[in-house]
Amino acid sequence: MAHKNTLMQLIELRDAYRTQLESLYQKEEIDDLCKRSIFYLFEWEPIKIGLEPQYQLTPAEQIAANKVLHRLKSGEPFQYIIQQVNFCGLDLIVSSAVLIPRPETSELVEWILENESRQPKTVFDFCTGSGCIALALKSASPNWKLKAFDISTNAIEIAEKNAEKNKLDITCEVKDILAWKKSKEKIDIIVSNPPYVLPSEKEKMHKNVLDFEPEIALFVPENDPLLFYRKLFEIGTQSLKDKGKIYIEINPLYCSALVSLGNSFGFTEFKIKKDIFGKERLLQFILD
Ligand code: GLN
Repeated sequence: MAHKNTLMQLIELRDAYRTQLESLYQKEEIDDLCKRSIFYLFEWEPIKIGLEPQYQLTPAEQIAANKVLHRLKSGEPFQYIIQQVNFCGLDLIVSSAVLIPRPETSELVEWILENESRQPKTVFDFCTGSGCIALALKSASPNWKLKAFDISTNAIEIAEKNAEKNKLDITCEVKDILAWKKSKEKIDIIVSNPPYVLPSEKEKMHKNVLDFEPEIALFVPENDPLLFYRKLFEIGTQSLKDKGKIYIEINPLYCSALVSLGNSFGFTEFKIKKDIFGKERLLQFILD
């Protein structure tokens, strides 16, 4: 057990966060991470740091806090440490088997909900990961039938847990989209946020993404970046109902290439939507 003199006060813990995470995060983010850590670990309200700065951490509290700080210092995203994230109002479990849902992906969900009625529809979500898109859609549109697919067994386990946790009735299935066989079921909407980052983009990516998030969910072969989209269009032409739609999250680098590809599959009507950062990130196609 640590000697009493070596025990930290709460304000010293906050300062340790500031010094040790300085090279990874902005000061405001660090203070926020410290507050979220003590809430996660001890259910202390953030204001405790201001109200009781001299509070003496017990040895057990200090060990627990140091463990979290150590993981943060290694670059591990906070969401993986607490294994939780909020997405479109849902509390979802995340692990390193799935991507941490991005704000762009919640924009995709919102865009679909703005465009579509709440009438019964069959919706397939490919490369679902944590199940975030399928679950957020089901939560907002209980009449829709949602099926979520992913190649990773570990991801599908998380998606299933998330469905259970949020009491949402969706089907989750391990399935490699690239080996997809024509199904008899007719679909109204296909949605997907497939891997779309080029290996050559690694240089500008953050350590916490590269070292901790699943590569399989991020990267596409440098020489065939549209691989997953080609398959989505193929499934679309086979299984979508008349005027069926495809909604995809994309890499802004190949927005126009994707529009041409969609056109060549008979998806002549399309809409592009920019994300909050002003990048061409979302595409909607309608089968003609
Ligand atoms: N938007 C994610 C990122 O930049 C990538 C998601 C994906 O490849 N589908 O990290």
